[in-house]
Amino acid sequence: MLNISIIKCLTDNYSYLLKDEITNTVGIVDPSEFTTVDKEIEKKYKKLDFIINTHHHDDHIGGNLELKEKYNSKIVCSFHDKGVIKNTDINLRDGDKFSFGKTDFQVIHIPGHTLGHVAFYSKGAKVIFSGDTLFSLGCGRIFEGSFEQMFSSIEKIKNLPTDTLIYCGHEYTEKNGEFAISIDDQNKILKERIKNVASKIKQGLPSIPVSLKDELDTNIFLRCENQKIKSKLQMDNASKLEVFTKLRNLKDQF
Ligand code: ZN
Ligand code: FE
Repeated sequence: MLNISIIKCLTDNYSYLLKDEITNTVGIVDPSEFTTVDKEIEKKYKKLDFIINTHHHDDHIGGNLELKEKYNSKIVCSFHDKGVIKNTDINLRDGDKFSFGKTDFQVIHIPGHTLGHVAFYSKGAKVIFSGDTLFSLGCGRIFEGSFEQMFSSIEKIKNLPTDTLIYCGHEYTEKNGEFAISIDDQNKILKERIKNVASKIKQGLPSIPVSLKDELDTNIFLRCENQKIKSKLQMDNASKLEVFTKLRNLKDQF
């Protein structure tokens, strides 16, 4: 069994502290900063076997070196980020298996936000760490890749089992919801979700994780073939990629 604790970092980042219960393996996904994350590690486990990075941005690796030094952890990241992320130990390619104790992760290369961006997906634990590629009710900005790359990266996640829980890199859900409802304005499930998210945030709770099923119903970036969305954009005959590109451009200006 995989135990996951959510740690709020910086303004709106999430780091995830993992423990494989059977083997007492401990890891952290995307440690944004040392102090906040280490407080939790000290409190809970007092050890850290792995530092797992989805991509090279500072808000995802900020705690890497201090944590590695303190706990002698191994840094795990994409093959593409070797040299970009300092002092890495395990560099993985698309389709590679990463064994975290008895929990197996599959590495999925999902370029777009950055070229080396990866997701860590566990079929057994039914979770995916999606970094800054797929957010709840949204998707990441395209910095290094193309729209086409980002679109196909998101399609890869879209094809996973629908009961997969998504753990993403930021708490952007409320803002994403505002944009989503401006486009998908008749979506009743989306309206309900926006209410639920607002009440969680009000209580100081994370809106994460969210199931892929809920995202398929409400995340417009996963719904580029939806006829109502296409009509709203006056793109009735456009391809999914064209709709995706339009949505991503509109979101950048929202
Ligand atoms: Zn990023
Ligand atoms: Fe980020």
